[in-house]
Amino acid sequence: MQQVSNSATRSAPGVGADIGSFVCAPQIPRVVFGAGAIGNIEREIDLLGARRVLILCTPEQRGSAELVARTVGTRSAGIFDGAVMHVPIEVARDARAKAAALEADCAIAIGGGSTIGLGKAIALESSLPILAIPTTYAGSEMTSIYGITEGGVKKTGRDARVLPRTVIYDPQLTVSLPVGLSVTSAINAMAHAAEGLYAQDANPLASIWAEEGLRALASGLPRMVRQPDDVAARSDCLYGAWMCGLVLGNVGVGLHHKLCHTLGGSLNLPHAETHTVVLPHALAYNAAAAPEAMRRIARALGCTDAAQGMFDLAQSLGAPTSLRELGMQESQIGPCVEIAMRNPYWNPARLTTPRLLQLLDAAYHGRRPVPAREEC
Ligand code: NAD
Repeated sequence: MQQVSNSATRSAPGVGADIGSFVCAPQIPRVVFGAGAIGNIEREIDLLGARRVLILCTPEQRGSAELVARTVGTRSAGIFDGAVMHVPIEVARDARAKAAALEADCAIAIGGGSTIGLGKAIALESSLPILAIPTTYAGSEMTSIYGITEGGVKKTGRDARVLPRTVIYDPQLTVSLPVGLSVTSAINAMAHAAEGLYAQDANPLASIWAEEGLRALASGLPRMVRQPDDVAARSDCLYGAWMCGLVLGNVGVGLHHKLCHTLGGSLNLPHAETHTVVLPHALAYNAAAAPEAMRRIARALGCTDAAQGMFDLAQSLGAPTSLRELGMQESQIGPCVEIAMRNPYWNPARLTTPRLLQLLDAAYHGRRPVPAREEC
């Protein structure tokens, strides 16, 4: 998605608001959605023209990969079960070598963002088509963003070659995702949508996806928490995650993602949980600078204040609300703000060190979000 110039950007409008100018060039993989959709996998492999698929998974999801291998029969070239969080370069090299040795012509990634990320690392070098079968709500399958970690540093980039060609969303495959991980993974997805509503390159189509994604997740999550094997609730959540992933794939992100990348990268805090704790605070920080986005987030959540509503939702779902409980030390707040200020992403509200210290202090202690004080 191209960036539009500053003069042409604003929070994406709703009907009746000023539409303004925008650039919109959606990139969307083919999607096959529904309970039991995994049953279409052979047809989808055929449509990709593939004959030798390499199946990727984490060690924990080896059973799911074996099921896929049995289903595709002779078209399975092998399984690589070494996917781990943040795609270490050594793992990427092993997987690339295996794909080459097996003469694979397609990578099937069954799992969450870590497994799909491994598929992207292979595709980045080989242009191997990816068929993704997401089993979390992280949304990586809808983006051309890749990340590879080398020497403790995660480098990310965008490349059209890594966007999966086909995505099979089967809510039944998400039933086994533990409730706690389901909640934080879904709030990770909501963060993509919320930030997409006030992104510098926001556009009306992505804003519709964002609001719809937030609405579907806000509706599905409480039902999923009450009954984790409720496939209809899981279906709403996965549908919402698709929408939110589309937003991440097509428009930019701001302060929230910058803070989470800083906290994850420098302190190794857990990815989805960190997103869950930080999001209400990042929304409060941006509330005054992005009122239309906040109105749409609140409307999707069925509340009056986006930041407070997001905090209440996370709390009601039993999600973590403090960085302290994720293992952060109070003394790390200052250094994190320093890192986040070094190469900031575009953000609707001006970034200042005192205001970010205030934000992280509230997030550290798990206090309710407070709108950043302008005078800081
Ligand atoms: P994950 O892929 O690391 O999965 C977490 C754990 O849950 C793993 O052990 C996995 O095996 C297990 N799991 C996954 N689905 C399961 C299921 N249905 N049942 C039981 N267990 C299951 O977690 P994630 O949050 O999906 O991904 C996080 C990673 O993805 C991070 O590295 C993040 O940076 C990346 N990410 C990338 C993008 C992008 O656009 N490139 C977008 C979002 C996230």
